[in-house]
Amino acid sequence: QVSGKVLICDSIDQAGIDSMKRAGLTVDYKPEIKPAELTSSSVKDYDVIIVRSRTKITKEVIDAAANAKIIARVGVGLDNVDVRAAEAKKIRVINAPEAASVAVAELAIGLMISLARSIPRADAEGKRGNWIKKELMGTQLSGKYLGIVGVGNIGRNIGRMAKALRMNLIGYDPYPINREFISETGMIVTDLNTLLESSDFVTCHVPATPETRHMFNAERLAKMKPTAYLVNTSRGEIIDENALYEALKNGKIAGAALDVFEIEPPTNKQLLSLPNLICTPHIGAQTKEAQELASTVIAEKVIQILRG
Ligand code: NAD
Repeated sequence: QVSGKVLICDSIDQAGIDSMKRAGLTVDYKPEIKPAELTSSSVKDYDVIIVRSRTKITKEVIDAAANAKIIARVGVGLDNVDVRAAEAKKIRVINAPEAASVAVAELAIGLMISLARSIPRADAEGKRGNWIKKELMGTQLSGKYLGIVGVGNIGRNIGRMAKALRMNLIGYDPYPINREFISETGMIVTDLNTLLESSDFVTCHVPATPETRHMFNAERLAKMKPTAYLVNTSRGEIIDENALYEALKNGKIAGAALDVFEIEPPTNKQLLSLPNLICTPHIGAQTKEAQELASTVIAEKVIQILRG
């Protein structure tokens, strides 16, 4: 048993809430909490503050949370937490980095097939009564080269799935790539420009950092084959959306699928209006399984840290 008060500020899967309660924690579940309440004096009662993506844990919230020991994000990126301000107050910041790896990889595979076979367009036209079979000549994934930019948890998961689809893998990562994964999949490891020049599909799985911001700019997009497809399920900032718009419009690349955008929800109407662009509303981690896993992983970490 462990004691402490937990404030949950966004909707999270019930499994983690139940296990924190079972361990003896008092849990206040307030998935609709407003910023004003987060900076009010009541926040100092909590030992743990848990968020998903909606709530922003700013320096002001951290200052108000005078007794907080842990700030937890039920997910991967810590974009909505002022980590530096938390660490300055010796508050532990935790996340669940591997919980969504399979979900995001499966979405990326789904987007690749959607692009290659124009599934969204076929569906939309079919429902309008248009039988556009002749316009829908597609390409197969089997035998094609898949370039994986960022070969971490998600990059490796998509690599294994793509192998099962008989694709050939090319990878780029400035940091060492897991050796077992390379020998298991036969991935060719190369520099980013060679990857872009050689791939039929390019999928991005890098974190948002100053180095990755606009890593897909006009110059990089121009290196891709005109028949190639780009998929981004990582973070919107890594693609210069204006450059992508030009590349798609002028046939520099064949198509793109985005789950993430520079501004979310996206305001770039020009880009969204292109027929060779597919978009989903940041649903990479949005599966029952990934949410349940993230919630239980965070609950376990919280209980362990409070036990000391
Ligand atoms: P990870 O840390 O396991 O892997 C990231 C990889 O990128 C690492 O191998 C790292 O070495 C590499 N990398 C770092 N800088 C790079 C650079 N400049 N160029 C190329 N590679 C670089 O992370 P992950 O769990 O695989 O997540 C990858 C991305 O997916 C993150 O941006 C994460 O925020 C995002 N994500 C999105 C969703 C969604 O809902 N769409 C869900 C979960 C994660």
